[in-house]
Amino acid sequence: MGLLVTALFMVSLLGNTFFTASAQKLSPHGIQDTGDILGNPSFDDDWYNKPSSYSQLVSWYQALETNYSNYIKVFKANDLYGTGVITGGYDDYYVRITNESLGLHKPEVLFLGSPHGDETAGTIGMYWFLDWFMRHTFDPGYDNPQRDWLEWLLNNREIYFEVSHNPYGFDHGPQRYDGNGWDLNREADHDGPGSPTGGIWGSVNGETLRRFVDNHTIRSGCDFHGGARMLLYPWAEPHSGISGTSPISGETYGHAPPDFYFFDVNGLRLGSYMGNLAGDGYLDEDNIGTIWEIIWYAVYGGISPWAYGADVIRNPAEDQYVQDETFGNYPGAGILWYSPEMSYTKNVPEYDMGNDTTPGYGMEVRRFILHQTDIAQPYIWLLPETTPTDTVVTAGEDVTLKWQVNGCLVVDHTLVQWGTDPDPVGNPAHNSTDYDAYAGMYAGGTGWDNASDGTTSPVIYTENITLTEPGEYYFVVKAQVDQIYKETLAPSEYGTNHSYLRLVKERVNGSYYEEINGTDGLEVIQGQTWWYSPVIHVTVDPGIITHEFSLKKGWNLITLPLEIGFTAESLGQAIPNCTVVTHFDAVTQNFTTHVVNTPHDNFGIEKGIGYFIYLTENQTFLPSGSPIHSFSVDILEGWNLVGWPHADATTAESLGQNITGTTVVTMFDAEKQTFTTHVVGTPHDNFTVERGTGLFIFTTESSVWQGEG
Ligand SMILES: [Zn+2]
Repeated sequence: MGLLVTALFMVSLLGNTFFTASAQKLSPHGIQDTGDILGNPSFDDDWYNKPSSYSQLVSWYQALETNYSNYIKVFKANDLYGTGVITGGYDDYYVRITNESLGLHKPEVLFLGSPHGDETAGTIGMYWFLDWFMRHTFDPGYDNPQRDWLEWLLNNREIYFEVSHNPYGFDHGPQRYDGNGWDLNREADHDGPGSPTGGIWGSVNGETLRRFVDNHTIRSGCDFHGGARMLLYPWAEPHSGISGTSPISGETYGHAPPDFYFFDVNGLRLGSYMGNLAGDGYLDEDNIGTIWEIIWYAVYGGISPWAYGADVIRNPAEDQYVQDETFGNYPGAGILWYSPEMSYTKNVPEYDMGNDTTPGYGMEVRRFILHQTDIAQPYIWLLPETTPTDTVVTAGEDVTLKWQVNGCLVVDHTLVQWGTDPDPVGNPAHNSTDYDAYAGMYAGGTGWDNASDGTTSPVIYTENITLTEPGEYYFVVKAQVDQIYKETLAPSEYGTNHSYLRLVKERVNGSYYEEINGTDGLEVIQGQTWWYSPVIHVTVDPGIITHEFSLKKGWNLITLPLEIGFTAESLGQAIPNCTVVTHFDAVTQNFTTHVVNTPHDNFGIEKGIGYFIYLTENQTFLPSGSPIHSFSVDILEGWNLVGWPHADATTAESLGQNITGTTVVTMFDAEKQTFTTHVVGTPHDNFTVERGTGLFIFTTESSVWQGEG
């Protein structure tokens, strides 16, 4: 590849000057191809190409930022923190990925392009993850079943990238070391520095990372590597007497951290989910473990142990490894931090990157980021079969809640609670079955169960709840997760139940509280042992009801509160001992009387209208049907005969106030065969108006009445 070497040499001569003539055909989606110097392997346009330089990689991110400006922000972290310029003249670009319109205090995760410049799979795969993520969340051309979940991640996480932790090494060679010849994964302040370095945080890149971490509350993170096939986690040399045995695989690992169980179980699930897409082998108990156990040489001052353990105020057992007396404490540590070794070949060939659908390192990096972004905080994922909020159901119909529990390793408990109080979290009246089959275990019951090669076999919970009483109901799904991880390894070394991980403390300790006044203002984490779905509000409609009329001998004044198409004749026929049905015509201010069993003066029975009926004996009448939900009555000046069909009672005064210009509301007492009149706006003779009651009203204006009252 002599021509390629020449081109890269040109880049090195030009330093960080923006390079417009790229060495390869390297145009990602939507970016103008700027040149084609070499006759290169003709990958498809949608291939996960390799950028020719750090500046080109940054320009790709900036193009995405332009296209998705409400979701992506590319910024110079070295400027933000005033840490200077990276040796070689580079800025330290970070990328923030989140729905900015929803604010900036969501759970944060951080992924670093490789600190070793020649280990390229992760650095390049991160860009293609973001390109894939945006297209699969928003672009109509990439509609897919995961779209709602991807959008949820954008709305509920802040994902940070450092484009490359070693721009100089990425551009020159590429090479492992930075422009000073330093190893940027040996200068962190935990059992460091190693060699060669400029001392703890000797580089601008390192000092910027340190500032960034301590000004955020990162829950999950990684620094990508290559040259091997591993998922590494702390520790390297420290804590030599401590070993941990995996509850999943039975393998034992030396130099184990207090959160060994969480690192192990999460790591095994993550490795299985990533699969073996570029032929470098599976990630399993043989290559997922502590740095000391898996790697074959000493690592001093690695980023991973620092990011996990260097908060010595919270974790005094680390004080012996941290030079906080010189460099200050590290309140941002406490991160679930892995160092993935992606590939045996450090600088991976472009044909191993793959694309959206072709297996390769690109797809593996995508899976890594998705899994480690999801785990940052537990949540209930309501599935589409769930009854949508603000649905109206008929009494006797089911309300369905169907869900997964994500962001966790094991589901100890999950259930639905509900009631008529709009706050079903605080004031539930009812609980469903508690699904607790995995309580106290290390894994199981989650949406990520049996994760393997990009797929999962999620545990899906379903509750069908039948409500027979009409009313307004409020449902919420809740879950308690990961409680076994409260118990940590080696209490004699680390302290009893002394997790270092903020994402574990947040979920196992309800009184955990942490605040950092950081880059985006005050970041607060308040522990909670239960996690809740959004509230689902459901209106239960009564459906078919039976209304009871206790009719009296003589005149009765009623309204039909049901959707039944009666006429005066058919209503009279339906009521034994009813001989007359009479209505009042507001236009003529006269009564019309129909004598039952005669053909004369029949009329239709209308909604919201009152009728006089005459009975020869006391009689119970029990009509059934759908309740009336809406109706409209033309109210005319003078007397009108109306009716109250609603289930909820009102008063004469309230009704009068709700029909424009009404001065009088009058009821008829069938027991006494007398009228009672209430003058609107006075305190006298106000009476209750029950469903089924007919009423005279007197108004001074015409209007349309639609049941207000
Ligand atoms: Zn490395």
